[in-house]
Amino acid sequence: VGERTFPSLTTIVVPVVVVGMSIAGWGVLQHGFERQDQVLLQNDTNQVALVFQVAFDEAQSDMTGLVTSTVASGESERIFDQQAEALISQPSESVALVGTSDGVADVLLATGPGLHQGEQLSGLLAEAVSGAGPQLSSSPVVQVGSGRFVLLTASSPVESSHYVALVMSPVHPQTPAANESGPYAQIDVALYATLDHRSDELIGSSLALRPLPHPTVTSIMKVGSVRWLFEGAAKAPLAGAPAEAAPWILLGVGCALAVALAVAFEITVRRRRTADRLVAERTAELLLAQEDLVKKERLSALGEMATTIGHELRNPLGAVVNALYLARRRLAGHEDAELTRHLDLAERETNRAATLSEDLTTYMRQRTPQIRHLSLAPLVEQVLGATELPEGVDVEIREPLADVDADEHQLVQILTNVLTNAYQAMPDGGSLLITSARDDGFVDITVRDNGVGIDEPHLGRLFEPFFTTKPTGTGLGLAIVKRLAEGHGGTASVESPLDGGASVIVRFPVAKSDDH
Ligand code: ADP
Ligand code: MG
Repeated sequence: VGERTFPSLTTIVVPVVVVGMSIAGWGVLQHGFERQDQVLLQNDTNQVALVFQVAFDEAQSDMTGLVTSTVASGESERIFDQQAEALISQPSESVALVGTSDGVADVLLATGPGLHQGEQLSGLLAEAVSGAGPQLSSSPVVQVGSGRFVLLTASSPVESSHYVALVMSPVHPQTPAANESGPYAQIDVALYATLDHRSDELIGSSLALRPLPHPTVTSIMKVGSVRWLFEGAAKAPLAGAPAEAAPWILLGVGCALAVALAVAFEITVRRRRTADRLVAERTAELLLAQEDLVKKERLSALGEMATTIGHELRNPLGAVVNALYLARRRLAGHEDAELTRHLDLAERETNRAATLSEDLTTYMRQRTPQIRHLSLAPLVEQVLGATELPEGVDVEIREPLADVDADEHQLVQILTNVLTNAYQAMPDGGSLLITSARDDGFVDITVRDNGVGIDEPHLGRLFEPFFTTKPTGTGLGLAIVKRLAEGHGGTASVESPLDGGASVIVRFPVAKSDDH
């Protein structure tokens, strides 16, 4: 709960691989799509070029036909007009039959606004006519007067002929060429009178003077001896919307799949982790419980033995005490100092043995506390009355003392042990403070003295059974305190205050009836 966990390696690697593959797939499809688009564009552009090519091939035969027929008819105006009509596609176009001799070019017959009968040609027009042959020939875009034109020339196939057909066709690059039907419908095209995209050689474009959008393809067209350049660009992807969308669909599906996989993996991994942790926790708990059980088993066997021995020692010790008493009485009146000393020693050691057997029995016997609601104050008074207060020790009880839920006999035992230790820590007198305080569902009973205090290295060992620093101590006093307190669901601890002495704190659950 609230634990910080990082995604597992699988959760990261698998989706990354899937995304990588999607990107690669996207690249391949996208490339294929672009290739396909380019091929289609090239096809369309070639087709447009072909349409023009056919038209120019027709124009060539029309123009040679015009020369041959008109000359054969004796330059009949009627025949000329008839022939010229096939060549005129727009009113601003002009057609002429030109006679050439001795480097002079005269217009013999003409139709259209640009060329006039009887006119002698000069400049670019004369130049175009002089270069004419039986094959169609075209000029670059030329400026004649205020207009821009392309000039087409063809002479008769008869070798010595001095007649030339001249077509003067205006170009309007600033007007967008119509491209709504036929092979134009899908593409934008631009036509140049040279092989490079020179704007001054632009014959026409569906986008007028604007350059075509990239990518573009080119197709070359032959107009007689001259080459024209078609440039084409797709209006919209030619391969169609589905082909265009396919790479993106692949990429999208790939990413979605990666996310789904990541989520699925992560959920699985987390579930397994949780399960593993639960198993580990349960196992640890079981092991602890088992250890506890083994320990308890052993202790209870030991305890039984100790209790039995303690009990068995009681009678012989009692007998010894009686015997000593009787011996003392018999000796009354006889002043034998050495014997008295022996008796004193025997009595002291017997008492010690009795205490040890008593403590051992108390420590080992595990009695379930008989919990009653108790007032601490009278119990403290009772214990103080029962223990012999050493000379020079002041006792202060800070009222009011709390109530606790405890076993009366065990609480008395605890207080007795703690107070005895405090007295023993103050052989030359001192002061003793008994307080109680409620703290979060517990009552802390603190017994504080200003005696010899506790050496730092001993602090952690005081509650160990048989740990003592006293020559005649059993080391069981605090061990009993701890065991009894814990039997109540409480604790026992020792503090070593900075200003000397010691504080023993016994903590009991607060009395239930006090709780609310
Ligand atoms: P014992 O009193 O038989 O030595 P305890 O278990 O009662 O055994 O105490 C263990 C040890 O803890 C004592 O020997 C003593 O060193 C230390 N101790 C306990 N109470 C105090 C105290 N009030 N002041 C100083 N030392 C103490
Ligand atoms: Mg003691």
